[in-house]
Amino acid sequence: MWNPTISRRGFLYATGAACCSALLPVSAAADPAQQAKKYKKLDCHLHINHKGRTIEDTIKHMDNTGTDKAFILPLETGEGGVTLRTETVLHAFHQYPERLIPFCQTDIRQPDVIERIRAYHLLGCRGIGEQKEHLPLNDKRVEAVIAECDELNWPITIHFQDDKKGFNQGIEQYLEPYLKKYQRVRIIGHAQSFWSHISADVPSPDKTLYPRGPVKPGGLLDHLLSNYPNLYADMSAGSGFNALSRDEEFTAGFLERHPKQMLFGSDCPCSDGRGGEFNGVCYSTRLQEFLVRMVKDEATLQDIFYNNAERALNGNA
Ligand SMILES: [Zn+2]
Ligand SMILES: [Zn+2]
Repeated sequence: MWNPTISRRGFLYATGAACCSALLPVSAAADPAQQAKKYKKLDCHLHINHKGRTIEDTIKHMDNTGTDKAFILPLETGEGGVTLRTETVLHAFHQYPERLIPFCQTDIRQPDVIERIRAYHLLGCRGIGEQKEHLPLNDKRVEAVIAECDELNWPITIHFQDDKKGFNQGIEQYLEPYLKKYQRVRIIGHAQSFWSHISADVPSPDKTLYPRGPVKPGGLLDHLLSNYPNLYADMSAGSGFNALSRDEEFTAGFLERHPKQMLFGSDCPCSDGRGGEFNGVCYSTRLQEFLVRMVKDEATLQDIFYNNAERALNGNA
């Protein structure tokens, strides 16, 4: 900060010292966005048609954010506001097979759901997600698709949101039994009620889904991530960023405790990877800059940006 009372000599000394102590190129040291560029990136959570975004714009979003590959997640039933069909994801995959990793999702209340998932498997899909339907987590139909992923050696990305109008409610009681029973499937945890459990202190979801302020240690996430290598944490969207940025001191330890289970992801709806149509905010670059600032170990950063998602995909958890 500029101090108008500083002497000229003191000022020169201070700026000179700052300059000479920076052995790294000044631009790299000063610009986390620049630093993030040197890491390969796999976005574990991307849709296509947020705000009418086309397949080409989605690729442009990846190019502009330095993202090599992405899990593309359909939302066939549109519960939550966005509808994206698995067929569209497969169509995009056929255009950009080196960049896009297609997931599938289909209405799990339909009696032919398992046949449909098996067909999508044969067509090249690599996992289920985003699983986001108005059913509680312990519903037998939710369990049936988790069991199918276990069978197929797939990951599944689940949106956890505990309010009455939410999705997969009951993470506190029902996630651990699934992790215990199905050890081949990789469960990728996403959204508000997953991330609220970074803290031992979770407010009622009807009060807020985005708790702020200091984290109380001993939360459900620390317990589950420590005990179940088949659980991964999807850091995307406002939910991931809110939880990780609310108490940076806690987050530093949290990332150190679970470096192999953290997945970089954006869920970004912006049009171009520069915040277009989204008030100048891009969830991808915002998280990249945050991670570069928080994680100093380069190998860990590369795991979070890319390698962990690849392991979650291929299943050597
Ligand atoms: Zn999403
Ligand atoms: Zn964006």
